[in-house]
Amino acid sequence: MLDRLSEASAREVLADAITTRFAGNIALVSSFGTESAILLHMVAGIDRTLPVIFLETGKLFQETLDYRDELIARLGLTGVRSIRPSGAQLAAWDPDGRLWQKDVELCCAIRKTNPLDEALVGFEAWITGRKRVQGGSRAGLELVQPGADGRMTVNPLAFWDDAALDSYFALYNLPRHPLQAQGYTSIGCATCTVKPEPGQDKRAGRWAGQAKTECGIHMPRLEKMAWEI
Ligand code: SF4
Repeated sequence: MLDRLSEASAREVLADAITTRFAGNIALVSSFGTESAILLHMVAGIDRTLPVIFLETGKLFQETLDYRDELIARLGLTGVRSIRPSGAQLAAWDPDGRLWQKDVELCCAIRKTNPLDEALVGFEAWITGRKRVQGGSRAGLELVQPGADGRMTVNPLAFWDDAALDSYFALYNLPRHPLQAQGYTSIGCATCTVKPEPGQDKRAGRWAGQAKTECGIHMPRLEKMAWEI
C-alpha cells in the first residue's frame, strides 16, 4: 500500500529539488513507460513547465509515443522535449537501423546516452524514476545522489514498492501504458523489449537473454571514441 509518509516524502524531495535546491537547473528524464505517470503527475502539481526530457530513440513502440501525447495533454505539461539521436551518428554507425542486432552498447550510446548528455548540458541535476526494488545497480539507490554523468540525480521513488506504485495509479486515476494490459512490465525500445515470463522480475523483458540490464544512461560513460561525431 502507499502510505502517506512515502507519498509526502517523495513530493517533498521533488518540490525541494525543483523549487529550491536545483531551481531552474533541473529536468525530469522520463521514458513514458509503465510507471512514469507517477512522477509526471507529481511534477505537474509542482511546475507544469519543468523541462521533461524524452528520448525518442527511433525504435520505440507507437503505443509509447501515443501514451506520451496522452499524458502531456492530460497533465498539462508544457516542457516536454522529445530528443532524437544525431543524424550524423546514425548515418555513420547505424545506416540500416540494425545496429541493435550487432552491438547493443553502441546502439544505446548513439540512440540514448549521447542524446541525453547533450540535452542535459546546462542542467545541474536530473530526476529519475529508479527504485530500489528494481534491484541490480539500483538496490542501494538514495533519494539524492551523484549520477554517473557527474550531475546530481534526484530519485523521489527510490523507496517505493510495487504496491505503492499501484496505489498511486488508483488514487489519482492515472492512465496506464497501453502495453501493460498485454503483459509488458518494463518498456523500452520495441526491438529490445519482450514480455517477461511469469515469475520473472519486471525488467526481465529488457534485452532478454543478454547480459545487458541497463541502457547506459545511469552508468559510467563509455570512453570517448571515434563514434562521437
Ligand atoms: S534499447 Fe535496443 S534499439 Fe534501443 S537504443 Fe538500446 S540497443 Fe538500440
